[in-house]
Amino acid sequence: MNALGQRIARLIEAQGPISIAQFMTIALHDPQNGYYATRDPFGRQGDFITAPEISQMFGELLGLWIAHCWHDQKRPEARLVELGPGRGTLMRDALRVIGQLMPEFLTKVDVMLVEASPTLTAIQKDTLAKSGANIGWATQFNDGLADKPLFLLANEFFDALPIRQFVKTERGWCERMVALKADGTLDFALTPEAVPSSLIPANRDGAPMDAFYETSPGATALAQQIAEVIARKGGAALIVDYGYGAGAGFGETLQAVATQKYANVLKAPGDADISAHVDFAALGEEARVAGAKAYGPVGQGDLLEAIGIVQRAATLARGQLGSNPEIDGQLERLILPDQMGTLFKALAIMPVSASTPPGF
Ligand code: SAH
Repeated sequence: MNALGQRIARLIEAQGPISIAQFMTIALHDPQNGYYATRDPFGRQGDFITAPEISQMFGELLGLWIAHCWHDQKRPEARLVELGPGRGTLMRDALRVIGQLMPEFLTKVDVMLVEASPTLTAIQKDTLAKSGANIGWATQFNDGLADKPLFLLANEFFDALPIRQFVKTERGWCERMVALKADGTLDFALTPEAVPSSLIPANRDGAPMDAFYETSPGATALAQQIAEVIARKGGAALIVDYGYGAGAGFGETLQAVATQKYANVLKAPGDADISAHVDFAALGEEARVAGAKAYGPVGQGDLLEAIGIVQRAATLARGQLGSNPEIDGQLERLILPDQMGTLFKALAIMPVSASTPPGF
């Protein structure tokens, strides 16, 4: 077991099993050994490649989507927030096209990047040094971001938010925890007692034995916070991630990835990325309760095609799709159903009064 694993083992020894949410928080964000706190995980040599790192087209088109919604809402003084910007690539590509198309945007809209990792914050500062925008940083989404119309982008951010897992047993729904095995290593274990039934939504009533229910309290709380600002002040949010819509299954989705391969979740905490499928239906419901309108989720492929990725690819390939294998490959990777096109989805949160956003 690595150093962080040993520290988690000592914590469990002292206070008993911890929830998966607590385990994820430590594994991802521990200041000394946490996954995001200590490294730059992206890119071909890194642990995983995200859409903005695959192609500039992704950030450009999301930028156009934001510019369209901002224009549609009469170009207000506003704030553009990105949650978990990674290397800052998406924002760089978005601001470049927005600046070309609507230079006024850069004078009327402040940019705020929400990033927990000091390592990635430093890389973002570098990437965005010449963006021409007024950019600030925050370590979490906070009330200070509620004073103006809110335009928001989040790609592969919500999947990193901690989840809790519950399993249906003879004794009722029990929480799946991280505990210690006799040999001192980490293992999953269910709580001996069932949890209060109020924690499990009614639509899980008919679930079979051993079914999982996953929930991310941090994700739903954040969706609510964002939707409240958008409902009250205006704006638009586009949340892109891998996950499911109305058809939540009964399986579990917690996964670890290192060097572009699946890894054991518990074996080397902090050395692998840990994430879970995003429950888009739950985020959309939260947005509606907060008084905003939620659209989607739609597949990433459908969204990108609807907002012009094929035309953009043709332009980048100098007018001829099929003539530039690199651009063709990027396009296929982002939109084909057997690649990122359907597993990845997009949810939009809008004011009730705004028109339907492009692609939904
Ligand atoms: N959007 C980027 C990076 C995705 S990885 C891309 O598409 O390439 C997840 C990002 O969210 C990283 O930047 C990570 O450091 C950040 N992050 C994860 N959990 C966070 C949290 N709780 N608060 C703030 N940032 C977080």
